[in-house]
Amino acid sequence: MGKLDFLAELGIETENDGGYAKEWCGSGSLLESFAPADESVIASVRQCDAGDYENIMANAAKAFACWRLEPAPARGEVVRQLGNEFRKHKVALGKLIAWEMGKIQAEGEGEVQEMIDIADFAVGLSRQLYGKTMHSERPGHRMYEQWHPLGTVGVITAFNFPGAVWAWNAMIAAVCGDVMVWKPSSKTPLTAVAIQKIVNNVLEPLEWNGVMSLLVGSSRDVGELLIHDRRVPLVSATGSCHMGRKVGEAVAKRLGRSLLELGGNNGIIAMDDADPEMVLRGVLFGAVGTTGQRCTSTRRLFLHRDIASDITGRLVKAYGQVKIGNPLDPDTLMGPMVDGGAVDTYSAALETIKKQGGEVLYGGNVLDQTGHYVEPTIVKAKPSMEIVGDETFAPILYLFEFDSLEDAIAMHNSVDQGLSSSIFTRNMQSVERFLSAAGSDCGIANVNIGTSGAEIGGAFGGEKDTGGGREAGSDSWKAYMRRQTNTLNWSDELPLAQGIQFGD
Ligand code: NAD
Repeated sequence: MGKLDFLAELGIETENDGGYAKEWCGSGSLLESFAPADESVIASVRQCDAGDYENIMANAAKAFACWRLEPAPARGEVVRQLGNEFRKHKVALGKLIAWEMGKIQAEGEGEVQEMIDIADFAVGLSRQLYGKTMHSERPGHRMYEQWHPLGTVGVITAFNFPGAVWAWNAMIAAVCGDVMVWKPSSKTPLTAVAIQKIVNNVLEPLEWNGVMSLLVGSSRDVGELLIHDRRVPLVSATGSCHMGRKVGEAVAKRLGRSLLELGGNNGIIAMDDADPEMVLRGVLFGAVGTTGQRCTSTRRLFLHRDIASDITGRLVKAYGQVKIGNPLDPDTLMGPMVDGGAVDTYSAALETIKKQGGEVLYGGNVLDQTGHYVEPTIVKAKPSMEIVGDETFAPILYLFEFDSLEDAIAMHNSVDQGLSSSIFTRNMQSVERFLSAAGSDCGIANVNIGTSGAEIGGAFGGEKDTGGGREAGSDSWKAYMRRQTNTLNWSDELPLAQGIQFGD
């Protein structure tokens, strides 16, 4: 058995006794994928070039011509089969996500569960793409709205959720009648190849090839083609605020639509009446989980002055017990960072933190071993520290103290990003203040739950520099469709709206 034996179950051929995979996606240059746990090369993936891009776009357009006319519940049936196929491969795909991205296996499998959940949600949605009916002001007239598919949706995803974010988009867009072209992160190409193989197992026998296609390639070579392409009416892009500005601008220039899911800088407010154990567990999962590489990772913790020293002491103790190591080892709580660049970002941030007056209470070191391992870090911070305004995509937690909830909310809302937030309290007034229009300015505001680990049933996304997009549940599906208002005259007259008499 090779160390990557789970790849065989995913239909990926390996060499070197199962230790190395070669997969061909297109006819461009080779892209190597590295395991962050031991820095070994796990795969070479042949990327798409401009010619492949054109073929993929042509196939997608051809598929759309038929897929848009398939009844939505029949499209839902195809998505149901996809969900079942994800179920079958949950463990193997979860392991691959862990091995290629670095999150622990439990989180890798949790990510596949999200793919299953959103498929289930989309199946139900396929019978609920409701439009409104309204009363016309004119006699013998009927008015209603209906929703039609948009066309080819470009899906650009980040490395940290190499499967779930694609699925949030693809499952919903599929029941809406769109076809998808997916550009994954170049840090996780093998996960994308494995997912596309699972998709093909379902779509090929049904002759629905072209409904979901994969475009492995760099942002420069294929990403730029996608965002400037007028044949792509919607680009759904997940990644940094920097990327979102570029994508948003390019798509807006051609009057296309973009759905942006960008960086967060998420905070937890712990009031003096909060349950300290719940705070501890919420913060630990939020700040240390996924090695601080979730868009919803907890980056800032605001502690009421009366409980600050107690909670800080508990946190430092808990951080000391976090087992760092191989993401496939069931005892590991924190895996490696995704690559050497991410470790450099962590180190550079710590330099800046010290220069700006932050006090490292725990961690702050890169581990001296093979693999991209760092210590989870707690910093006693000052509101004046500029670096706190940045999303440093690493397990660094800033602590602040406050005296009143108003002050805590003001500090919390002072950053540019607006993704996820939470408060720990048992006081109803504090809860309502935090959730009011003068409270958290984020797209997600939780009570007695941390900032990360959203369920797919709610609309997911954030405000301000996080981009304003909404994905997953609730009525997020509307972003993937175009609305049409229909007015039908069943009378024998032709009355004009607003009672206008014209040429009578
Ligand atoms: P990134 O911005 O470096 O890359 C994201 C994706 O965008 C990649 O596929 C990349 O190739 C592509 N890309 C970059 N420039 C492009 C361009 N000009 N044209 C087309 N495509 C382009 O982000 P990352 O490092 O992979 O992921 C981490 C970031 O993603 C963090 O900021 C995190 O908060 C954010 N994120 C946000 C959410 C959310 O839902 N809000 C979810 C996951 C990750």
